[in-house]
Formats: sequence, C-alpha cells, structure tokens
Amino acid sequence: MTDTTTQARWQEDASRHLVRNASDRLAMFTRGEGAYLWDQDGRRYLDFLGGIAVTSLGHAHPVFVDAISRQAATLAQVSNFFATPTQLELAALLKELAGAGDAGRVYFGNSGAEANEAAFKLARLHGAADRNGGSARPRILALKNAFHGRTMGTLAITGKPSMQEPFLPMIPGVEFIDSTVEALEAAIDDRVAALFVEPIKGEAGVVELPEGFLVAARELTRAHGALLIIDEIQTGAGRTGAWFAFQHSGIVPDAITVAKGIGGGFPIGALITFGDAGDLFYPGTHGSTFGGNPLGTAVATAVLREIERADLLTNATERGAQLRHAIENLGSPLIESTRGQGLLIGVSLRHPVAGAVVAAAQQHGLIVNAANDDTVRLAPALNIGDVEVDEFLDLFARALHTVADSLLLEETPTTPEDPA
Ligand SMILES: *Cc1c(COP(=O)(O)O)cnc(C)c1O
Repeated sequence: MTDTTTQARWQEDASRHLVRNASDRLAMFTRGEGAYLWDQDGRRYLDFLGGIAVTSLGHAHPVFVDAISRQAATLAQVSNFFATPTQLELAALLKELAGAGDAGRVYFGNSGAEANEAAFKLARLHGAADRNGGSARPRILALKNAFHGRTMGTLAITGKPSMQEPFLPMIPGVEFIDSTVEALEAAIDDRVAALFVEPIKGEAGVVELPEGFLVAARELTRAHGALLIIDEIQTGAGRTGAWFAFQHSGIVPDAITVAKGIGGGFPIGALITFGDAGDLFYPGTHGSTFGGNPLGTAVATAVLREIERADLLTNATERGAQLRHAIENLGSPLIESTRGQGLLIGVSLRHPVAGAVVAAAQQHGLIVNAANDDTVRLAPALNIGDVEVDEFLDLFARALHTVADSLLLEETPTTPEDPA
C-alpha cells in the first residue's frame, strides 16, 4: 500500500516547485536496479517503460555505473574547442553501427530534440546549398502524427496540430503528409529539401509505416534531390532488433537522429549523416556546449558495446515475439492486437481505457505507459529474460482483469454512457 501522507507531500512539493507543463506525476521513484524501480515507500515495481525506451540495460547496470564513474573521475567536460578520445570513439562506433561508411559524420547534442534540431538545420542547409546553380528548396515534408520533439524547431516538424497550436506561429516551410507512398508521390517535387520520417511512430501509439514505404521514400527523395532523414530516437540502439529500424528495410538514408536508448539513461543525442550530407555543415553553423562531452560519450560507447556483447539485438527480437504472442493469448476481452517491432510494443485495446490499464498496472506493481487512449506502450530494457517476461504477463493480466471488471460494472443498463 502507498503511504498516503508521504504521497500527499511529494505531490504537493511537485506542484509547488515544478512548472505545470505535464499532468501530475504518477509516482515518486527513489531507486532502480535491473528491470525494477522502488518508490519512496520502498515498494517495488517492474519497469516495462524503461524511462521511455531509454534504459537499454535496465537500471544501475554495472557497465553503465562503471563507465560513468570512471569517466567522471577522469574528464567530464572540455567544450567543443577541443577533441576527446571518448567523443571520437563514439562517433566512429555510431557510424559503424549505422552503416554510414567512411563519408559518414556525427554531430552530438544532449537529447532527441537537439539531434532533430541539427537535422532540421541540415535540411535548411541543403535547401539553400544549391550554390551550383540549382534552385532553392524551401519545402520540408514530414508525416502527420509523427513526433520529433518539443523545441520550437522540432515542434515545427511534429505533425500534431494540437501540440503546435499554443505556440503558433511555427517556423515556416514544413508540410505534413499522410504516411502513404501515394501522398508522398503527390507532395514531393524539386523544391523539397528533406523528408522527415519516424520509422515506427512511438508517441502516436507504436504505429508502423505501410509496407514498402521507406524503400519508396528513398527512391522518391533521391529522384528529387531531397534528403531522407530518419528519426531513430525511439527505435534506435537495438530496440527493434536491428541497431536502427531503417536497417530492416535495406535502404540507406541521408541522415538519422538518435538519442534515448544510446545513453542507457545518460542524456545524449546525435545526428549521423551518410554520404555527401555530412559536407553541408561548415564552421559556425551549429554547436552545443555540452554536445559530445566526455562523460556522455564514454557512457554511450559502453552501453552500445554491452548491447553488442550480450547480443541484445537478438534478445529484443526474441523477447518481443515472445511477449506479443503471450499478450495476444492472455484471453483478455480488452486486447485487440499488438503492434511494433522487437521490444517496442503497442498493445491495442478494444476500448479507450489505456489510462485505466496503466493506473491499474501501477497499483499491481507494473510500470507501462498509455501512448494514446487505446494503446499501452511497452519499452522495457533490452536485456529482460524469462523471469521479467513471466512477471510482466502475470501483472499485466491482473491489471487487465481489474479494468475489464470495472467496465462490466459500468455496462449495467443504468449507466448512461456505453464505454464501447
Ligand atoms: C522522444 C523522441 C524525440 C524527442 O527526444 P527528447 O530527448 O525528448 O527531446 C524525438 N523523436 C522521437 C521519435 C522520440 O521518440
């Protein structure tokens, strides 16, 4: 049981000290280890959200702790007037994992939004870069319902009108299209600088692209001289069973952005360019005080090497399939289907009760998230095993029961609203 007095206190503190940019915090966590979190009352939770696809190795993994401790005791920050071995090592590793080749280049920021800000600037530089007599490219295309971040630049490429509305006017030049090959064919021309694509729309509810979309997007952007920029912030670092989700399709993009899982809990983001796209930036065009700092780059390298060493790409593929199969066979009347790839999973519900399922799960000691009204999102650590999977299924089934029972209660004839 949660101690209501302590709960009231931290909730009051939160509302006194923090801006009201988000809904009320759901719990107060004080510690994590492996796939588990502990709250201020010492209660344990199985964490199947992973800080939103961030804690790739789970909490307080020895590799993470060791890398951060050693680097903190060695060198934490020097600014980008200088190089550091950890920064160059991570850049080389990211290029290798992404298949960016010798011509690939890396820009480091500290978050997903910063990686996408850099990508937005890359698109603008490409749009203006036709110094060889070509016409300018003022247009940028992005997909409706895709999420690319909350800063003004990344909000401008995020196709969710309700998120943009309080902050109008947006940075001009961005147009949103449906995620279909037909819509892209209709929209693209030689005045498009770039197409931004989220390969699985995580925030929108783990929604995959139509079959063949990335291949067609590659052909069409190439034919029109536009950059293809893929946002791998949620899907990258092995989450979908490949290092990056675009690799399932066999295409080569012009740039990808990464963050979340690459740091395993340390804030770091990066833009990785392929081919000529890396030549677009020139001195003075972008920068960040903390970007590529020794601490973050040392940690990210250690996290990625551990993902490689422990073969967590295979684990993500296998555990993802195992989980989806088991979830679909739970026999819950609430479950419609599952979506996603690897360990980025959306559980689609038959009723808009994802919030209630998430709250019931928390009551039962399980952390998951409602990506939208009828989708529960799972993004656990990539190294979960049978123990965590079994415990998840038990707790998730109980949460679904709780909500299904309450729905039946509400479905009595005296209730004016049919929850369906
Ligand atoms: C989380 C996310 C972002 C933004 O990353 P932040 O680190 O929150 O700024 C951008 N794109 C996608 C696809 C994301 O999932």
